[in-house]
Amino acid sequence: MPSERVLICGAGVAGSILAFWLAKHDFQVVVVERSKAEQKAGQGIEIEEPALKVVKLMGILDKLKERKTGEMGFNLVDQQSRSCGIFEVGGISPTGALELMRGDLTEVLYKSADEFANVTFQFETTIQSLRQTQDKVIVDLENKITKTTRVAEFDFVVGADGVKSWTRQLVMGSPEKLNCFKSVGAFVAYFSIPKEDQDWPYSRLCHFTDRRIVWMRPIGKESKITSVYLIHVHDDVPNLRRANAAGDRLKQKEAFAELYSDLDWETPRVIEQMMRAENFYSDELMQVKLQKWSQHRVVLLGDAAWAPTPFTGEGNQLAIIGAWVLGQELSRNPSPVAFEMYEKRLRSYVENAQSIPLGGYAPYIFNPQTAWGIWLLRTIVRLVSWTVRAISWMNLARMLPDKPQNDFDLKIEEVEAEVAR
Ligand SMILES: Cc1cc2nc3c(=O)[nH]c(=O)nc-3n(C[C@H](O)[C@H](O)[C@H](O)COP(=O)(O)OP(=O)(O)OC[C@H]3O[C@@H](n4cnc5c(N)ncnc54)[C@H](O)[C@@H]3O)c2cc1C
Repeated sequence: MPSERVLICGAGVAGSILAFWLAKHDFQVVVVERSKAEQKAGQGIEIEEPALKVVKLMGILDKLKERKTGEMGFNLVDQQSRSCGIFEVGGISPTGALELMRGDLTEVLYKSADEFANVTFQFETTIQSLRQTQDKVIVDLENKITKTTRVAEFDFVVGADGVKSWTRQLVMGSPEKLNCFKSVGAFVAYFSIPKEDQDWPYSRLCHFTDRRIVWMRPIGKESKITSVYLIHVHDDVPNLRRANAAGDRLKQKEAFAELYSDLDWETPRVIEQMMRAENFYSDELMQVKLQKWSQHRVVLLGDAAWAPTPFTGEGNQLAIIGAWVLGQELSRNPSPVAFEMYEKRLRSYVENAQSIPLGGYAPYIFNPQTAWGIWLLRTIVRLVSWTVRAISWMNLARMLPDKPQNDFDLKIEEVEAEVAR
């Protein structure tokens, strides 16, 4: 039975799921997270197959269902709020069957891992530095509240600390040195604003010229807030880049306010409330591409290793599946060999998932530059939504081919056998 000590940096989706599976396999697990236990930032994220199987086997599906946003579907609207096409939940709709706010998802995940006696979560704590010997990793852990540092030894360290992973930087070097960030040419902002009647129950997305989008998503019938994504597809927005590099939230807000200042529809309300939003988060969308995901006893997981960006819709799925595969490999062979196996099983699946749909042109096709492009997109969406309705009305859906199987080595029987141990 393994009793190795594992430090996980980051209690996001990947970190908490890995903590759960390692605890089940009797590892001694410490999870450090720089934020407070309650993380309110973030937006709706979806869990679908095959990641759904992993959360089902963790026994948390009912808890997750209780936290669903309840969004009933997706409505593409024009500037007068007229619908150009509604897609009910599931199928080709951007609204998934199990859609949750990231903060709700991570809370359920961390609480389910925290039930194990052999897991300790330490919030507002981070890795300050680390060094590896042949058979252990010596880590300086810093508590941000008490401003104290303590030294601890682990057999393995897992960096599940997101796109800008500090663990990655400590063991492999800066993103510049690694040349691991690949911009997908888009700037996003996420925040929430006070809810109005028209915000429920469908999410509404409106296109504007120069590849600017306002997308408003309900987060619950009783909720008093609505979440908003602003997406601007562009290779370079200098003042936003500068604000992002400086981590200056006010400057980020001002840059978006300027970019969106000439837009109508709900945009004036959105921008006014954005300036007051406390849970505002903005960045340039970057993929992470690394030659290798581990270095001796330290391994990277989730966005830290392979962030695919929301354009692929795969970030959350990969984090869940990756955590499950890594937990499985470490339990089979608690040595650095497990990291080789983990990468061998997942590498090509991850690389496929990182490819941006439609030959990389999806962000441009779905975010047109001109008024004519927007008209064409709305017309196509109208036709597709009519076709989808006609198919479901005539009950022809059963004639459509099944979704292709994923081509990586995830066998649900194996997961079930692991859980039964
Ligand atoms: C604030 C936020 C909002 C997001 N919103 C969305 C969204 O709306 N839609 C979507 O599809 N995806 C969103 N994502 C990304 C999505 O959660 C990930 O693609 C996916 O879930 C992968 O999860 P992960 O656990 O690998 O990384 P993340 O979810 O990024 O989790 C990493 C965790 O590590 C912690 N961390 C970072 N640095 C340190 C450090 N030095 N020490 C300790 N802890 C650290 C972070 O606080 C975070 O909790 C968001 C991520 C974040 C951080």
